[in-house]
Amino acid sequence: MNNFNPEQALSETRREFGEHGGVTPSISRSSTFTVMDPETMPEIFGGVRGPEEGGCFLYSRHFNPTVDILARYLSAMEDTEFAVCTASGMSAISCSLLQLCRSGDHIVASDTIYGGTHALMEDLLPQLGISTTFVDSADPKNFETAITPKTRVLFTETMGNPTLKFCNIPGLSKLARHRGITLVVDNTFTPMMISPARLGADVVVYSMTKFINGASDLVAGAICTTKAMIHQLMDLHTGRVMLLGPTMDPRMAYDIIQRLPHLAMRMREHSRRALAISRRLETLGVPVVYPGLESFAQHQLATDLINKGFGYGGMFTIDCGTRERADDLLDGLQNKEDFGYIAVSLGYFDTLMSCSGSSTSSEISEADQRKMGLSPGLVRFSVGYTGSLDQRIQQIERVVRAVGLASK
Ligand code: PLP
Repeated sequence: MNNFNPEQALSETRREFGEHGGVTPSISRSSTFTVMDPETMPEIFGGVRGPEEGGCFLYSRHFNPTVDILARYLSAMEDTEFAVCTASGMSAISCSLLQLCRSGDHIVASDTIYGGTHALMEDLLPQLGISTTFVDSADPKNFETAITPKTRVLFTETMGNPTLKFCNIPGLSKLARHRGITLVVDNTFTPMMISPARLGADVVVYSMTKFINGASDLVAGAICTTKAMIHQLMDLHTGRVMLLGPTMDPRMAYDIIQRLPHLAMRMREHSRRALAISRRLETLGVPVVYPGLESFAQHQLATDLINKGFGYGGMFTIDCGTRERADDLLDGLQNKEDFGYIAVSLGYFDTLMSCSGSSTSSEISEADQRKMGLSPGLVRFSVGYTGSLDQRIQQIERVVRAVGLASK
């Protein structure tokens, strides 16, 4: 386990007061900003004279004071030099990859990733001349074998969606550095719990739609990385975030700023409940997969990667074998017991559950789903923290027994 404490890092970064000393920051809702001295305009526009160099903010697609506060908090939490916020997780991923790759270039990616990211690499990027080889992420050697002279990026999720497979980030980082390749890691499932940049990732991307925000009421993303990479992304001529324009609204940044201080508490509680429920399911003989269980194939790797004190995360899966039985499980949990909601996404304060093969991984062909170990009956749970834990355990116990998933 690692001793880096992102909760502490976040609390030690400078707090931003609102106007008039407000305990919450003000929302700078202005698309454009007044340049008091016209002579400074060229330098301000060129990004040479920002607010910290005696200039000012210029235009909110470039930079916005409220969005910049969130970016500063995120870079403190991730221990990266800088961050940029985006309008969605997908725009964070696509802008990062488009910044790093040109036509003719190649990506090696984990085969266990979110369906939208898979579609980007499998279907869209080839139209721009960028190809991807998907590999089993359990072993960095699989990435090594797939590298070609054209490979520019290694891409993985820390904990793969939806099979929860872990990736050896320090091993991948060593490989990427040795070959002069950039390692991009999607840490959406495991904020606070895992700090990919500390483990050697060059670029950390997030869908903040999930745990970071925690209320399932908005869509947002972030790229946490070096100053040099952020300057490239925001370059006036070629910056993918600057010119493709997935700009975050300052009101959205404000909402997320308000929820970051309790992200650590929330992650600990998601983890505590997911562990307790999955332990109970395991004793009932239910085919449950959770990284905190000793039966989890990569339990030791997961333990080595996580930051001490945040647990093993809020996600577990049950393999129901068939889609029909998965539907019975979901129906019982939502409509008979009020255990949670049948909904895609994750990181909400209530439990969200969905059958991945026919929802968030449906962009992936059935053959590829089988290859990545995704059964048509796999139900993914994002465990919430409403209700009492005892009540939730009793509810799920009744349903797994009713649908014949408990063998003991
Ligand atoms: N990365 C992961 C791991 C996801 O699960 C998702 C969405 O489910 C995304 C990225 C995309 O995020 P967004 O919907 O915010 O664009």
